[in-house]
Amino acid sequence: MDLIFFGMQGAGKGTLGKSAAERYGMRIFETGGALRALAQEDSELGHKVKSIIEAGHLVPNEVVMEIVEDFMSKLPKNTAVLFDGIPRKVEQAQSLNELLKKHNRTYKAVLIDIKKETAFKRLATRRVCKSCKNVYPTTYTNSSCECNGELVTRADDNPEAIKTRLEAFEKETIPTINIYKDNLIKIDGEPTIKEVEILAFKALDGIMPPPSNS
Ligand code: AMP
Repeated sequence: MDLIFFGMQGAGKGTLGKSAAERYGMRIFETGGALRALAQEDSELGHKVKSIIEAGHLVPNEVVMEIVEDFMSKLPKNTAVLFDGIPRKVEQAQSLNELLKKHNRTYKAVLIDIKKETAFKRLATRRVCKSCKNVYPTTYTNSSCECNGELVTRADDNPEAIKTRLEAFEKETIPTINIYKDNLIKIDGEPTIKEVEILAFKALDGIMPPPSNS
C-alpha cells in the first residue's frame, strides 16, 4: 500500500518520510527534491523551475505530473511508494488518483499537523546538508552534517518565500487534503521529530507490512 504524506512545510514530512519508507521498505517520491534536480539543469525548463521554486510558488501541474508519471512507469513491481509533496493542488490530486488507479494501487493519506507559527519558525531557522539533504533544526549547533557535508540555508527558506509557500499551503493544499478526509491518518507534528516518529509508527504499524527489522 502506498502512503501520501501531507504536512505544512517544516512539519518534518521529509525526515519522517525517510524513516517510514525505511521501516516499511518503500520507495520515496520526493516532489520538491525531483523539482530541485530539474532546476539544476541548464535548460529553459530548468531555469523556469528554479525561479518558481526560489520565489516560493508552485510549479505548473503538467511539469510535476510528467515527473511522477515517469517515476511510476519505472517503478519495480511490488514496490510501495511514499509520496512526499504531492498532491499540493486539487487538480494534482485528481491526476495522481487517476495515475494510481491506472497502476492498480491502493493508498492511505497521512497528515503531519503543525501550526503555521511553528512552520514559519522551523523554516526560518533550519539548515540543510548540501550533499545528503538531511535537514537540521536550530537545536543542531554543529557546523557540518553528520556526513561531513556543508550545512546551508535553502534558497526558498527566506522570509518572503516562506510566506508565499505557507499561503499556497493554506489556499491550495488544505482543500486538497480535504479530498482525502475519509482515508486520512492525522499525526501531531508539534513535538520533537523522535516523538512524532513514535506517534506515526504507532498509527502506521497496524496497516503497513511488518517493519523490516522484525
Ligand atoms: P518542498 O521541498 O516540498 O518544500 O518543495 C520545494 C518547492 O518545490 C515548492 O515550494 C514548490 O516550488 C515546488 N513543489 C514541490 N512540490 C510541488 C507540487 N506538488 N506542485 C508544485 N510545485 C511543487
